[in-house]
Amino acid sequence: MSDSTTADDSRRTAGEPHLTVDGLRTYYESEKFVGGKPVKAVDGVSFEIGRGETFGIVGESGCGKTTLGRSILQLEDVDDGRVSFDGTDVTTLGRRGLKEWRRDAQMVYQNPMSSINERMTVGEIVREPLEVHNWESAARRRERVQELLDRVGLRPEHYHRYPHQFSGGQRQRIGIARALALEPEFLVLDEPVSALDVSVQAKILNLLSDLQEEFGLTYMLIAHDLSVVRHICDRVGVMYLGKLMEVGPTERLFTAPQNPYTRSLLSAIPQPDPDVGADRITLRGTPPNPRDPPSGCVFSTRCPFKIRQPEHENLDDEQWAAIAEFRRVIRERERATATTLQRAKQRLGMGTEFTPIREVNEELFGSLTYPESVESTLNQATELVEGGDVTEARAVLDETFSTVCEHEPPEQHAVGDGQSSRCHRHREEYREPGEYLDAEKYLPR
Ligand code: ADP
Ligand code: MG
Repeated sequence: MSDSTTADDSRRTAGEPHLTVDGLRTYYESEKFVGGKPVKAVDGVSFEIGRGETFGIVGESGCGKTTLGRSILQLEDVDDGRVSFDGTDVTTLGRRGLKEWRRDAQMVYQNPMSSINERMTVGEIVREPLEVHNWESAARRRERVQELLDRVGLRPEHYHRYPHQFSGGQRQRIGIARALALEPEFLVLDEPVSALDVSVQAKILNLLSDLQEEFGLTYMLIAHDLSVVRHICDRVGVMYLGKLMEVGPTERLFTAPQNPYTRSLLSAIPQPDPDVGADRITLRGTPPNPRDPPSGCVFSTRCPFKIRQPEHENLDDEQWAAIAEFRRVIRERERATATTLQRAKQRLGMGTEFTPIREVNEELFGSLTYPESVESTLNQATELVEGGDVTEARAVLDETFSTVCEHEPPEQHAVGDGQSSRCHRHREEYREPGEYLDAEKYLPR
């Protein structure tokens, strides 16, 4: 954490990353639909963590944070990529090597007791990893558990109690003691305080900070609460639909975010004083299905700074937003009518659950005026949907409105000291025009 040093600074290998994640991919195959598309939970993630550092991962629910943590620890079958720890690739370890890795690296969960047998006492829970790894003698294990309970702020008599007798904060202390039992070097903290009251959150975070200092631990902290991340992380990665959109030192990321998704996330933080607030970016809708991510940039379907075709640069934000929304509706409708039965119904004009597209059109565009060519494309698409050809409607809209954002996945661009961002806007030819560079306007002040 920012102001802490490791217990043994000599162990810091200057410049050498402690943990390197390179092109990591973890897909979940769907068992119900054999041959169906996999969920791309983690889809080509790369970053490094230095020894003693706290690296934060933020992003909306379902973007792949937990899967990333579990993949690094080899608790999930990884499809592609490398995870190196002090130079050793842990994705290719044999049985013994893996056992060692699972001692060196541990996970702390949001609900630490959810996966634990209700009938185990606190002492048994913390001792279990020691048993599994056949750690020293029975007497030493008992002693070790007492040490750990004491270290995380629990009392000796808690040894024989059951977790359900404890508060949320105490249960998290038990989870932390268990994770520390085998003296790991690296901890994945998966939303460790998300389920706790704010006052308890601070205590647990302080405990984690003290433990980090005392034992020279390296943390990867997963959180959706940005204030927690800002408070304790040295660097942060912002995740969206299985990809890291931006990585950088915490303060830079919060004060000079370069990626449209990071800006949207920060913009969504409630302001203490609304009068001083910046222009808000509204993140429309929810993230797309990771089984069927958008082509090109994964954020393109919701991006407020999406690159436009030059002939549409004169449309204002409101006009543009209505088009984006219309395209989203049609995309969703296309997905929903993917089954033969739905398609047949639509073609026959049988009652589907959808609002008639004409009404959607009027609702979105009724109060706006567009150039004639745009208007005619929108009407053409509307008529195609009415005729049951949603796919063709989508193609017509794509033809007119889609740009590089939907055609090509953006690369990770270096955008400052230790900061990188995945966005086509960083390419020379796409920087101007637009308000994109005016970060100030969108940031909380
Ligand atoms: P987060 O922790 O950011 O909320 P997760 O890593 O839990 O995200 O999930 C990422 C995506 O993978 C989600 O779409 C989720 O539904 C899916 N997923 C997670 N675990 C499994 C699993 N065991 N089988 C299939 N899909 C999964
Ligand atoms: Mg999660």
